[in-house]
Amino acid sequence: MEKFMYEKKCGWLTCDEKQKDNIFDLSQEYISFLNQVKTEREATKKIICELEQNNFRNINNISSLKAGDKIYFNNHDKSIFAAIIGDEDIKSGINVVGAHIDSPRLDLKPNPLYEDGKLALFKTHYYGGIKKYQWTTIPLSLHGVVIKPNGEKIEIAIGEEENDPVFTITDLLPHLAIEQVKKPLKEGINGESLNVLIGSIPKDEDKNAVKRKVMEILNQTYGIEEIDFGSSELELVPAFKARHLGFDRSMIAAYGHDDRVCAYALLKALTNINKPQKTVVGIFADKEEIGSVGNTSMQSDAFDYFINLILDKLNQNSISALSTIYYHSRMLSADVGAGVDPNYQSVSELHNSSFIGYGIELQKYTGSSGKSGASDANAEFMAYVRNIFEKNHVTYQMSELGKVDIGGGGTIAFILANKGMQVVDCGIPVISMHSPFEVISKYDLYQGYLAYKSFLETK
Ligand code: MN
Ligand code: MN
Repeated sequence: MEKFMYEKKCGWLTCDEKQKDNIFDLSQEYISFLNQVKTEREATKKIICELEQNNFRNINNISSLKAGDKIYFNNHDKSIFAAIIGDEDIKSGINVVGAHIDSPRLDLKPNPLYEDGKLALFKTHYYGGIKKYQWTTIPLSLHGVVIKPNGEKIEIAIGEEENDPVFTITDLLPHLAIEQVKKPLKEGINGESLNVLIGSIPKDEDKNAVKRKVMEILNQTYGIEEIDFGSSELELVPAFKARHLGFDRSMIAAYGHDDRVCAYALLKALTNINKPQKTVVGIFADKEEIGSVGNTSMQSDAFDYFINLILDKLNQNSISALSTIYYHSRMLSADVGAGVDPNYQSVSELHNSSFIGYGIELQKYTGSSGKSGASDANAEFMAYVRNIFEKNHVTYQMSELGKVDIGGGGTIAFILANKGMQVVDCGIPVISMHSPFEVISKYDLYQGYLAYKSFLETK
């Protein structure tokens, strides 16, 4: 094989026993993280806890900043920005890695509770791009908050413990599904039929007795009334645990890899960096799955506010400071990509696809049909990132999402690129993305950690 030819190599064939130990250790920690974190609020809480254990402090409790200081900003309990102040002047630019911590799921509607067919159910409105049929007949747990008009916050997480009840969306028995199975996959289960079964004992012989019984239990357990659902955020997510996958235990199957796998790799990188040259910033965004809109999303000005707070506390703010920093900054948009699925290879263009176990993905652009909506990284920046990865022995693969004109997707990359930063998408490949049980390779998770750490530490 000529030296100047490029061929992807399976990561597992390139690592020694010590590296394998590191890979399996990090995976074990990640599995435990996933089992504690099923929503963006739970992720925020857990990430802040880990940041604080590693000497990051809430920026709002600090009056002035200096090199080496570690800080974080809690954006409405649903997204986080973290930073370590570098030695170098912040106006020479910052190194950013940005992941998101929201995942596709089923949200309860504002008036969710009803009774039908002598059973009690919740109405839902799905969040993010899901294939609806995948969310029926699986155990679901309920996570979130109910806020009373007086501000009291009631936190709910039910369905994760062995003795907790779970919930489920029923589906038609095959015996009576002759008409249903003729429908196109997209229409087989529609949004209004994603109703969750939650109870069956009637309170008495009067009307709506099963519904009233469920509400009575909710009132006794959580102190809530039916109207309180209107000021709640309650999410139904798969109740099963993250698991080692395969006889060789080389993969992890779990709910929420998109994008908690990149978020976790980023968290590990941030907590293992000390005294960086450049100021480093980690983003854990919310609302990516619905287009990055709203005040906890990446398109919110909250990020500018965070950087302005840093500038204020460094006593370096000025009218042009923010745009100066952005123009000179570099970012990896840390979001998952699509790994080749052996069952569905026809959607992949195999010369430009990612394989799980072959390292972190570097995607020059995302978008769809003629690069529409893409943030297309500059060739110079691609070379810059390649150089970091090659020097630090990070295994990477350069790819696209799938075949041209067959679909597409986006990430938060364009939002920071629009501010003037150099940005490229760099994430971990996933199989069965957006399903209740997504698959990644443990090898790639470790490469994600190495990639984000080496990028952030580069001068
Ligand atoms: Mn994502
Ligand atoms: Mn996604």
